[in-house]
Amino acid sequence: MERIGHHGCVTVARDTGIARRWGMLTDLVADGEVVILSGAGLSTESGIPDYRGETGRRRRAEPMTYQTFVSSASARRRYWARSHLGWRHIVDASPNAGHRAVAELQRRGLVAGIITQNVDGLHQAAGADGVIELHGSLHRVRCLTCCHRTSRHALDRRLRAANPGWHARSRVINPDGDAVLADDEVESFRTVDCGGCGGVLKPDVVYFGENVPPSRVEECYALTERAGLLLVLGSSLTVMSGYRFVRRAAARSIPVVIINQGPTRGDGEALLTFDAPLGTTLTALVRSIS
Ligand SMILES: [Zn+2]
Repeated sequence: MERIGHHGCVTVARDTGIARRWGMLTDLVADGEVVILSGAGLSTESGIPDYRGETGRRRRAEPMTYQTFVSSASARRRYWARSHLGWRHIVDASPNAGHRAVAELQRRGLVAGIITQNVDGLHQAAGADGVIELHGSLHRVRCLTCCHRTSRHALDRRLRAANPGWHARSRVINPDGDAVLADDEVESFRTVDCGGCGGVLKPDVVYFGENVPPSRVEECYALTERAGLLLVLGSSLTVMSGYRFVRRAAARSIPVVIINQGPTRGDGEALLTFDAPLGTTLTALVRSIS
């Protein structure tokens, strides 16, 4: 913590603190071996909303849980109807300055790995390689019976063909590509099954109530343990699936830096925290290093 003077030098003391902390961050990143852990806050500037606002308060719509999805055909129809609309929003989203800055740091050889909690594919769209998608990707669909994976684009074509004349509209879109719809619009929607075996199709994302595959978790732990810096971007770390890597890094004395709008659960483990917008901050970081 910065010491703030008693006699009106508060601003000066804070500014000095920021300059010093910014210098520490640029030095750490310039040293390389950075492992990035990104969350929904990195994609909000691309128009993909976060489940939690800046206050950390949960928004109105609840995410689908795995248990609900697998146990209820009507829940699956509701999901696919809403997702059919929401998908358009995901496909139309473009990477923002924050995604481009991450890709640029990787291009300069400073990044050892990118772990993202996001399912939107925007890191890759910005040019990043080898991204570990902790919670999967909305760009793929998986059959729950034969496990065959297909592209979401292919499913989108099949859903359009199965639903000619279905033109529901929604203005509320959630980060997992779920749109809010009226009941009658859901009931008139037709889902499709696996083209190979007729099994139930599920987006290849890890739902709430579902575990990240253990091999993927181990890969992320291994990456974290080799990191020179764990840089958290746009995550409040509310979900343990991401927070555990912060805890692992802290336990191994690997510095953790968090850039996020609002407080995070990992602030106590972090060497430095920056409460700041991601796009401008990461663009400035790239510029500071060059
Ligand atoms: Zn199948």
